[in-house]
Amino acid sequence: MAHWLFGEEHEALRRTVRSFVQKELVPHLERWEESQEIPRSVFRRCGELGFFGLKFPEEYGGQGGDYLASAVFKEEVARGGSVGLAGALGVHSGVALPPIFKFGTGEQRRRFLVPGIAGEKVGALAVTEPNAGSDVASIQTTARRDGDSYVLNGSKIFITNGVYADFVLVAAKTDPAAGHRGISLFLVERGTPGFSVGRKLAKAGMLCSDTGYLIFEDCRVPAENLLGEENRGFYLIMDGFQWERLMMALVSVGVAEVALEQAVGYVRSRTQFGQPVARFQAVAHRLVDMATQLEMIRGLTYQALWLFAQGRPCLKEVSMAKLAATEAAHRIAGEALQLHGGYGYMREYPIERIWRDTRVGTIVAGTSEIMREIVAREMELYR
Ligand SMILES: Cc1cc2nc3c(=O)[nH]c(=O)nc-3n(C[C@H](O)[C@H](O)[C@H](O)COP(=O)(O)OP(=O)(O)OC[C@H]3O[C@@H](n4cnc5c(N)ncnc54)[C@H](O)[C@@H]3O)c2cc1C
Repeated sequence: MAHWLFGEEHEALRRTVRSFVQKELVPHLERWEESQEIPRSVFRRCGELGFFGLKFPEEYGGQGGDYLASAVFKEEVARGGSVGLAGALGVHSGVALPPIFKFGTGEQRRRFLVPGIAGEKVGALAVTEPNAGSDVASIQTTARRDGDSYVLNGSKIFITNGVYADFVLVAAKTDPAAGHRGISLFLVERGTPGFSVGRKLAKAGMLCSDTGYLIFEDCRVPAENLLGEENRGFYLIMDGFQWERLMMALVSVGVAEVALEQAVGYVRSRTQFGQPVARFQAVAHRLVDMATQLEMIRGLTYQALWLFAQGRPCLKEVSMAKLAATEAAHRIAGEALQLHGGYGYMREYPIERIWRDTRVGTIVAGTSEIMREIVAREMELYR
């Protein structure tokens, strides 16, 4: 049954995306995991089908829809069972493009947003550094103004799409003495002299999604590539975090649903002691608990999404949804793997990848500890 939050147009979109994911993405997942790369054609196809522009105006090639439409896309891609794929497509369309739409100049929108929506250019956001993760204000990369350009020096780590992206939104200190009030965001194009990919990082999961270590050495970026106002970058990053965290919660709901389906399918077909293992009460009750957890995180996530889509204050609700959904998704995936017995630990069963992939949820886009910290402050516990 459709959830009350979504209208008929959202449900129609859901059917379209679901069919696309099953037909055009799922059959190739294992190959992309092996090659550790998602082909460009996937981004182009999503652009062609209008999936990257769901919430952007038509004048930029978008569909003029709303955040709920975009949420449907994120959740349905995740229902394909790959957090790596959901992460790569989600970072491009839900993390790199929105700040360009919200804070970019007409020219920046033309150069980056329009080809980004079309899937012709892929974007990334580079904030994290070897010595600055949760503490965004402590980044050390600098951008010094020199005539009509800025000169960037520093490095970025763990950057999704960082290896193959055509452009990267890079956070750098334009006023190093001013803490979080001295950060700016720059659009840096691939091929800009002084910008290089140090290496592609090897990960525990999300293998198809590329994660890069990026280096900036006297990298000269034209002043017109400054995104938004100078020294306002921290606020742009924080603004984007809300949607990014909601996306993580939606992806967790989608992938937890697949994990549960996989577990139910397996225990129904696996016979031990002369009967399907699904008929053992201990197994059935475990599945009930997993299904209950899934509906709990769906409820919390949709509630936060509804508030967000209405433009209402929702810092506490989004942080709670991100916290609960990412933790529950990995727990559900672990339970599902357990119910597969030894086969669950083998690479040929998707649950093995889902379990590895879901581990990342409590780390990216603000760790679980940081989510608890935000909620504690929202609850005024330290007053
Ligand atoms: C696969 C992957 C993809 C990523 N993609 C991107 C990307 O595209 N762009 C980007 O900029 N970054 C990206 N990141 C980085 C990610 O956002 C950071 O890893 C995350 O913010 C945590 O930072 P850190 O790893 O430096 O850990 P740290 O901040 O060093 O934290 C270490 C531990 O200390 C805890 N901790 C830190 N501060 C506190 C506190 N105040 N209270 C309690 N506990 C605390 C943390 O929760 C954690 O458990 C990615 C990371 C991964 C793994």
